[in-house]
Amino acid sequence: MVDLKGQYNGIKDQVDHSVLDVLDSTAYINGPRVHEFQKNLETYLDVKHVIPCANGTDALQIAMMGLGLQPGDEVITADFTFAATVEVIALLRLTPVLVDVDPVNFNIDIDAIKRAITPKTKAIVPVHLFGLCANMEAIMELADAHDLFVIEDNAQGIGASYTYSNGKKVKSGTIGHVASTSFFPSKNLGCYGDGGAIFTNDDDLAHTIRGIVNHGMYVRYHHDVVGVNSRLDSIQAAILDIKLKHLDTYNNKRRESARKYNDHFNNHDNIVTPTGCNSCNALSDSCNCHVFHQYTIKVINVNRDALATHLNENGIPCGVYYPIPLHLQKAYVDDRYIESDFVVTNQLIKEVISLPMHTELDDEQINFITSTVINFVNNNS
Ligand SMILES: *Cc1c(COP(=O)(O)O)cnc(C)c1O
Repeated sequence: MVDLKGQYNGIKDQVDHSVLDVLDSTAYINGPRVHEFQKNLETYLDVKHVIPCANGTDALQIAMMGLGLQPGDEVITADFTFAATVEVIALLRLTPVLVDVDPVNFNIDIDAIKRAITPKTKAIVPVHLFGLCANMEAIMELADAHDLFVIEDNAQGIGASYTYSNGKKVKSGTIGHVASTSFFPSKNLGCYGDGGAIFTNDDDLAHTIRGIVNHGMYVRYHHDVVGVNSRLDSIQAAILDIKLKHLDTYNNKRRESARKYNDHFNNHDNIVTPTGCNSCNALSDSCNCHVFHQYTIKVINVNRDALATHLNENGIPCGVYYPIPLHLQKAYVDDRYIESDFVVTNQLIKEVISLPMHTELDDEQINFITSTVINFVNNNS
């Protein structure tokens, strides 16, 4: 699904040099490399504060702690996503409220959010799923109207742009009150271990969060709030700082591969391919709305699992993200959920399949993957 080795080979000299420098410096934790990466990411995103931390799940949890959310507060998020999002809500004894998603772009459905808002609702967590921003303009309007916080889960969307209806363009993760991201190796900006970060334009919130990541300390050995220990180490920061310089090139390569996939599938009756945002509805580098953390198609009237088996038998990796809706996961079942509220998610889990997507895909691979998919679909639909 990813080719981390091929990507590493392209930047090996820089990375090796940078890592050896850290080893030599012995500044393994909170060293200057962490600060440099933080500053460079702030500039890249055009956001006032980046607070590095240990992973993307921590980043979500710390963002919610920083906002002061309290047990019983309701937090609305998507039913169709990775479990980390709902996990931290539950861990903090907040009340997760899962809602359905949009059938075309797979992101949280705005009308479903509207229906789920109650007097107890305190926050919305849109996930920029597979690398395309959720409808942030509508979400921020709703949040303003109901006095809610918005926490962007940007683990899959780093580097993506979001275009407002007035044409204004910003980077994903800089729109809500706070955002989280993950530097897990297979993410679009991945390190060689675990890592994550929180972004915000709010000075006070940034200050609060900087203490939370460090045991609630604002002055050494004075613990003002309950915190956690969540750090990005210097070796990972040194690697990330090099990869950040390549992020736009990497994301452009992903988008180029997505365009090629789409061209091969060429509006096949049984294959629904991904599109861009409402502003461009295409996968253009100039819009940069989709950074293709995953390239995910829907197969219609085809046995998706049989297709997955067939691809694996032909040496093609593939993935089903995600096979089970969160509202049906044992840890998160809740009497309040009714199946008719999850029509889209319940359908998507049967139809989606993600194909290899990374920075090193070549035409031969894409030709082989798409012809194998198309042959199977033609013979089995
Ligand atoms: C990967 C991911 C996370 C968690 O990140 P980790 O660094 O693995 O903790 C959270 N949310 C989404 C949507 C993700 O894809």
